[in-house]
Amino acid sequence: MKPFDVIVIGGGLAGLMAAAVAADNGQRVALLTYGSGSLPLASGAIDFLDAKAPDVAIKNLPAHHPYKKIGLKACDAAAKFFCDVTAKADLPYNGRLSAQIPIVTAVGTLKYSALVPESMDASNLADKKKIFVVEIKGLKDFYAAMIADNLKKIFPDKTFATAKLDLNLLGGRDITCMDAAQIISGNEQILADGLKTLDAGDDDAIIIPPIFGLEGNASRAAIKSQLRAEILETTCLPPSPTGIRLQRAFIKFLQNAGVRIFENSKVVRGVLDGKKVTGVVVENSVREKVFPARKVILATGGFYSGGITMRDFDQPREPIFDLPVFFPTGAENWSNEQLFSDEPQGFSMTGIFTDENLRPIDESGEILFENLHVVGANLGGSDFIFERSAGGVAISSAYKGATS
Ligand SMILES: Cc1cc2nc3c(=O)[nH]c(=O)nc-3n(C[C@H](O)[C@H](O)[C@H](O)COP(=O)(O)OP(=O)(O)OC[C@H]3O[C@@H](n4cnc5c(N)ncnc54)[C@H](O)[C@@H]3O)c2cc1C
Repeated sequence: MKPFDVIVIGGGLAGLMAAAVAADNGQRVALLTYGSGSLPLASGAIDFLDAKAPDVAIKNLPAHHPYKKIGLKACDAAAKFFCDVTAKADLPYNGRLSAQIPIVTAVGTLKYSALVPESMDASNLADKKKIFVVEIKGLKDFYAAMIADNLKKIFPDKTFATAKLDLNLLGGRDITCMDAAQIISGNEQILADGLKTLDAGDDDAIIIPPIFGLEGNASRAAIKSQLRAEILETTCLPPSPTGIRLQRAFIKFLQNAGVRIFENSKVVRGVLDGKKVTGVVVENSVREKVFPARKVILATGGFYSGGITMRDFDQPREPIFDLPVFFPTGAENWSNEQLFSDEPQGFSMTGIFTDENLRPIDESGEILFENLHVVGANLGGSDFIFERSAGGVAISSAYKGATS
């Protein structure tokens, strides 16, 4: 097999973004992955940091934080590239790194993110007169009254109304947002007709669960054009149509850019020549196969997706290249007694440390492989759940790794 310019291991947000950036730069790219990564579980909103202005907060982070290696310039370029990819797939996103945009959660709170799907952007909610919260009969885990009650605490001067639409989606069976989104796609008129009965006007907003199809913006556009009020999707319990739309937008971009995508391809080890990775070995049920490469990007997702494993306490492992994994020493620093405390969790800092081009380093700072770059949730030195930086670290490290 002819060597690929770039092989990306892992098809989560970081791997998809890295493959997109490399292909956009004219490189011959292969994406090797098994499992779908965490995007189908996620809201699709991209969090950079839990701060009013993430770009200012990034400057003040400690030196070991992934953003300090990536640099603000690459973070900005990554945000722009991300929005270009989604726009090309007709999935418009709003946002930038100097501010945060609110979205309405499935329990009626506001969550702030740097980049959000246009269909969830709740920036204008404060200017609305009346807010309708709409649930769909048979749709699980979406309670209009609870959402309206909680939003009323944030917007006490607004008028709220709730409604339950019977769209007869699946003949009475309980369905998820993913089921509903799938049915609405191609059957938009059912939802449009239901929403028209609310008689919501120009100054009003309608809040619904995320059911505008599983791809792009076409379903939303078809419904929106028939209504006068602004219409917004919330987050939902997984599986999440807004995360699936983002995953599909990237896959579409990769296919158009000629990236070879190999699914069900578990990479088990690298082919090494001194400090160079010359290829990777994929194992399937019958045999092993070598994929030669000039450069490899490791986007295997940390603890949550098997990118880092830990059979014994104190001994985390990176299973493909056996890279050193940083973790907080001492069991007392490993976690807080309270899982949901207002302090970071030590174990979340676990991951691989890198140089400024995201190449893995050992404890003395020596670069271990010259053409291997580590991106996404594999990176050590930040508690991305606590500080709300998972999506931002994923896309900006992917951008940096692919352009280094
Ligand atoms: C429930 C949930 C909600 C979230 N909500 C948000 C949010 O609101 N905002 C936000 O910014 N982020 C959110 N995130 C985080 C975000 O979606 C990603 O988890 C994060 O960006 C990390 O992406 P990643 O690509 O590094 O890892 P992952 O998404 O974990 O992807 C890793 C991929 O690598 C593959 N892989 C692993 N080992 C191998 C191997 N040996 N060979 C081949 N492939 C391999 C895995 O199967 C997987 O496909 C959420 C995550 C979850 C789980």
